[in-house]
Amino acid sequence: MTLALGTAQAERGKITYGEYDLVRHPVGGMDRLPVIIAQGNEEGPVFWITAGIHGIEHAGIQVIHKLITQELVSELRGTIVAVPALNPAGLRTLERRAYYDDTDPNRLFPDGRSPKTDPDKAPPSALEQAYRRLFEEIKKSASYFFDLHCISINSLSFVFRDRVLYRKGDEAGKQRAEAVSKKMEEMAKAYGHTITADFSVGKYIDEKLHRSSTASIATVAGIPALTAELSSSYTPMRTTVEAGMAGLRNVMRWAGMLPGAPEPITGIRIVDPGFPTRRRSVARVPEACFVHHLVEAGTLVKVGDPLVEMRDAWGRVLGVLCSEYDGFVISCPSGILYYPGEASVLLAIRDDEPLVGAYPADFFD
Ligand SMILES: [Zn+2]
Repeated sequence: MTLALGTAQAERGKITYGEYDLVRHPVGGMDRLPVIIAQGNEEGPVFWITAGIHGIEHAGIQVIHKLITQELVSELRGTIVAVPALNPAGLRTLERRAYYDDTDPNRLFPDGRSPKTDPDKAPPSALEQAYRRLFEEIKKSASYFFDLHCISINSLSFVFRDRVLYRKGDEAGKQRAEAVSKKMEEMAKAYGHTITADFSVGKYIDEKLHRSSTASIATVAGIPALTAELSSSYTPMRTTVEAGMAGLRNVMRWAGMLPGAPEPITGIRIVDPGFPTRRRSVARVPEACFVHHLVEAGTLVKVGDPLVEMRDAWGRVLGVLCSEYDGFVISCPSGILYYPGEASVLLAIRDDEPLVGAYPADFFD
């Protein structure tokens, strides 16, 4: 069967381009996804790479643009299916979200339940339905999946490993989740950037993270999937883009899609504290203030280490917030003005939680 997505159709040894119909506009016309299919001369895995689901995150788009070249295809075993602009409306308006759906677009992928019909609630939006269709295409052909994002200014470039969920009592499902999670670990190591897990299992549904592209593809479709966060939003740094390309080529070497040994990842900071980690937003300010950061992305921290100094508008020191955890700094959110309760540092903290876990008991009721 020939691999196709929208009007792009795979051809041996070639890069083909096309478009995939996403959302039709009331005034006519349509948002379409740009699609690139690069197929090697030899049969092999199908690697899906997507970017631009949040309209302010542009590094991944450049990674895809520069990664896929005729030289790469001449060495390639298998196929790359790439979509560099998953959220055309958000990208056009430089917003995280699309103006025709108020939800985080990376929380619109299927969760394994069929949508409930409730006359008092709007049915799934056009965008949600479109991502559902796209999910089916990914499920049909993908061996591996990478979704490229950015997190905030000067952050580390890293991967978020999702937890993989299964239904309680479903032994085969649990085994599949464990196998998928193991592949994700190998894939993350092959990529070679800093690694951290996302929230703990219990938080997944709460945060609707199970409906992110990668969690949905890993859990519902059983395909190893990773979210790469390529540092700053908006205009990317060239070093980050190049490190992203090198990481993806290393994933393809791991997957047997490219020959040769892994290439070194250079130009970015890579942190390994020596224990597994997960994300936590910390240094929540107790009062309205300006924050002066005492750490930066990549700083290793221990319990008690100072993270930020709080000052009033005149610069008078109000206090210092210290770390309650061992770990490292992933990023500092944009800006230095904070209201009470807002977190001023994103840490990777020690993670003792399992990487696979059961859905809540009533999830499928
Ligand atoms: Zn994002």
